[in-house]
Amino acid sequence: MRIYACLINGFRLRFQEGCRMNQLKKSVQYVKNVGPKRKMILEKMGIITVEDLLYSFPREYEDRRRIQDLSLVKDGEKAFVKVIVYGKVQQNITKKGQKIFRVPIRDRSAKGYALFYNTPFVKNIFRIGSEVYLYGQISRAIDQIYINHPTYIFQKDIKESETPAKIMPVYQLADGISQKERARIQENALQQFEDCLQEFLPEDILERNRLCRLPYALSNIHFPKTLQALKEARYRLIFDELFLLQLGLLLIKNYYERKGKGIAFNVPASVSPLIESLPFQLTDAQKKVLQEIQNDMESNKVMNRLVQGDVGSGKTIIALIALYKAVLNGYQGALMAPTEILAQQHFHSARQWLAPLGVRIALLSGSLSKKEKEKVLHEIQNGEIDLAIGTHALIQDAVSFKKLGLVVTDEQHRFGVRQRNLLTEKGLRPDVLVMTATPIPRTLALILYGDLDISIIDTLPPGRKKIKTRCISEKQRQQAYQFVRQQIQKGRQAYVIAPLIENSEVINAHSAIELYHELKEKIFPDIRIALLHGKMKWDEKEFVMRQFQSGEVQLLVSTTVVEVGVHVPNATVMLIENSERFGLAQLHQLRGRVGRGSKQSYCILVNNSNDPLTIQRLKTLEQVHDGFAVAEKDLELRGPGEFFGLRQHGLPEFKIANLFKHVKILKQAQKEAFYLIQEDRNLSLDKNIPLKNKIMDQFGDLFDQIGL
Ligand code: ADP
Ligand code: MG
Repeated sequence: MRIYACLINGFRLRFQEGCRMNQLKKSVQYVKNVGPKRKMILEKMGIITVEDLLYSFPREYEDRRRIQDLSLVKDGEKAFVKVIVYGKVQQNITKKGQKIFRVPIRDRSAKGYALFYNTPFVKNIFRIGSEVYLYGQISRAIDQIYINHPTYIFQKDIKESETPAKIMPVYQLADGISQKERARIQENALQQFEDCLQEFLPEDILERNRLCRLPYALSNIHFPKTLQALKEARYRLIFDELFLLQLGLLLIKNYYERKGKGIAFNVPASVSPLIESLPFQLTDAQKKVLQEIQNDMESNKVMNRLVQGDVGSGKTIIALIALYKAVLNGYQGALMAPTEILAQQHFHSARQWLAPLGVRIALLSGSLSKKEKEKVLHEIQNGEIDLAIGTHALIQDAVSFKKLGLVVTDEQHRFGVRQRNLLTEKGLRPDVLVMTATPIPRTLALILYGDLDISIIDTLPPGRKKIKTRCISEKQRQQAYQFVRQQIQKGRQAYVIAPLIENSEVINAHSAIELYHELKEKIFPDIRIALLHGKMKWDEKEFVMRQFQSGEVQLLVSTTVVEVGVHVPNATVMLIENSERFGLAQLHQLRGRVGRGSKQSYCILVNNSNDPLTIQRLKTLEQVHDGFAVAEKDLELRGPGEFFGLRQHGLPEFKIANLFKHVKILKQAQKEAFYLIQEDRNLSLDKNIPLKNKIMDQFGDLFDQIGL
């Protein structure tokens, strides 16, 4: 809300200019032909205001511009014909008890039937001799032409000034309003409120992107004059959605950056002792990202940076170096992980690398006794602890820091924006670093993480071998087990992943528990096996992981709890049951649990589906090893809806734009948004005022949600 007030401040006067826009906020009842009853129906569909109505676009269109001869219509296609009813409506009943009404029709070229199902009233309206326009799906049998469940307009109902031959909108309907009534209402809204449809995009943006104007776009999205006009209208409205969202996000980011000063970590003490103590050289990609982080930290702006890097690209050490820098500057750091296992692991890494340099580290874990926990909390509060590591527990109210300077969250897709903010609020505008191993294409990252700066670790440390990946059918499972055995005999370890914890009556898939017993008792009685799943108690999980880490356990049967971050370099086989049940990005994550040492590693995807598309989808992993490419493929195959909910990110749903389908427009819109912010970061130039009003109108809510 604050940003809203702040941005709007000083524009109140100019905002008056936008008052015509307020007309659009009136109830739909102001539209002609909308009475109390229709108002209620529309409201149920989420259409409350005139603006909502103007922006509820047709689901599809019927191209009725060309009247076809009945004799020439094609089987399976939709057609628009003008016919005369030449006989009485016939009624049949199908085996399933459905009533079919056959209306005999003809034009000058042929005869046929219009078919209607379970709509007895057609008997009364299709009178012999009536002239009628029909639009519907054609089916042709020998000597017969049928038009199925057509929409119809009787000649007698057509006003003189109108032509029935046009492109007609088809709307999402609700009981109580017909297609025809809905179209009429839309038409009325457009006519009555034409004057309120103010253009909000500045001229230069319209011109550079060859966008049509708003009134034209809205008019043609509902009632396209031509297909070309429809295309232009769609383009403009898609552009609007993407552009406005991107611009809104940039304004938020801008606001963060200017909102008072953050910490400038500029104590000259250097992090190089840490870097020099590492058993490896940082890769160039790591160095570049580290530099970006250090620059942010040294400046007094509040860092909000996302680090993207494929699994195994070495994000953890980068986070630890940044945390070390904060500690050297006399601040505390917090490192937040999505699971206990990961928090534990980070704790080990931190102890290994930071403790020798004098950093005091605590793990705030669920396994601490009440007394231990109180002690740790106390130490965090009075500054005896420099670095606190934990899960969500870190953002609970009980935890307060003495001088929190840097917050790192790992695998942030597991954390909501709100949770991230909670932690931020615990400090004095601490810098924030977000690490994610789910790489997404940059254009999308700019939308989903639009309020963050982005760094990418785009190469893996040297010497990593590609993980050999095979997709196999269930029949080949025994061979696969044979292979697992060989690897274990060579001293390696293996994971077997199942999608479920317990057997389910509803879902036909392997469960970890069942698989564990089967493998332990029948297949690998001589091998040390353990079971891991999310329902186990914290200390049980912890115990099992430690045993696997130490090599005590040779084969780990698990659910996807090992998906993120777990690091056991000696493990070389990842066998995934029912792999068809997972998304590619998730499989890639799981695959990333192996190949973390110097040995050749393998990933076996057992596929229990016969669907050729599924098999093809899984097989892409045999070839594709780069996380970005996998993500891109996943996006293409499953769409962004499944890949990540927009809602989950606190962003509004789109009406017409699609982040995946409209990548080109997205890029264009992003370019313009960046350019505009560069030119006029507050949108205070006269030419940008209508746009500013529009943004305020649309995103006041979003700004609230993000917690500003
Ligand atoms: P992720 O990016 O998946 O979190 P990690 O940070 O867990 O990856 O790193 C995976 C492994 O690679 C760790 O054992 C880490 O110590 C090691 N590592 C990190 N950076 C390098 C490097 N530059 N060269 C060699 N090994 C590295
Ligand atoms: Mg990691």
